[in-house]
Amino acid sequence: MRIVRSVAAMQRLARSWQRAGVRVGLVPTMGYLHAGHISLVHRARALVGRRGQVVVSIYVNPTQFGPKEDLSRYPRDLARDARLCREAGVDVIFAPDDQQMYPRGEEGGFSTFVAEETLSRGMEGKSRPTHFRGVTTVGAKLFNIVQPELAVFGAKDFQQAAIVKRMVRDLNFPLKIVVAPIQREADGLAMSSRNKYLIGDLRAQALVLSRTLAKARAAVRKASQPLSAARLKAELKRFIERAPAARVDYVEFFEPDTLVPVPNVTRGAQMALAVFIGKTRLIDNAHL
Ligand code: AMP
Repeated sequence: MRIVRSVAAMQRLARSWQRAGVRVGLVPTMGYLHAGHISLVHRARALVGRRGQVVVSIYVNPTQFGPKEDLSRYPRDLARDARLCREAGVDVIFAPDDQQMYPRGEEGGFSTFVAEETLSRGMEGKSRPTHFRGVTTVGAKLFNIVQPELAVFGAKDFQQAAIVKRMVRDLNFPLKIVVAPIQREADGLAMSSRNKYLIGDLRAQALVLSRTLAKARAAVRKASQPLSAARLKAELKRFIERAPAARVDYVEFFEPDTLVPVPNVTRGAQMALAVFIGKTRLIDNAHL
């Protein structure tokens, strides 16, 4: 396994693979890897085959963090990530630094951004106004640097996957976006690098996210008629905030392809929520 640090070296490698007709799959991450990330690596391997190349990018992308968010304290451990990647059969880790990705220099700094303007408006985009512009910008850069034929994203970040798919379609990036299922801990908590912040009893309180999804699913499956989204949201918010450290950011029901909110909830709707557990903001989602 190679660790590549510079954009130029990664692009040289990508070009040599292209010339040799080697299939390439990319798994973009911010590192501090867990079994959720590794499931994406396995999916990429299954798709490109044994002779293909699986690249994991590890980059805590500053442009997708808001000014009051956890950029500086976001967990990082490249040595551990490299070990996990090696065990999972990754071929290349692309781990650039900020100067590689957003150079500052004599010719003037970085000044080009890619923004998706419809799917980005609600939910995460509303709570984190510059987040998706950072995601699409770094995504576009990674696709140009690694030139994969496919990139694997997790359903954990449902809105992100939809937006990246839309960007790829709208800007004709020559690759396929594959979305892989959410990996959970045994008790239901969706795996996340941010779970590291959940100390003491916050870890147990964080279960309220997956329990709320289960509660909504049970309600929808039991109901003989569509449920009012407004009423269900209010009830679920009350349920969530029974956990003393929990504060709801949003609970949303929407159509999974367009992300348009639905006024009435039936089976087949998508549900997503963001909840602060103490200072840690967690997200989760499910198909109802
Ligand atoms: P991150 O490092 O949090 O930016 O995540 C990198 C990729 O891993 C994204 O496509 C995420 O959706 C995906 N991912 C994160 N957590 C999980 C999980 N629990 N299950 C599946 N995919 C995940």
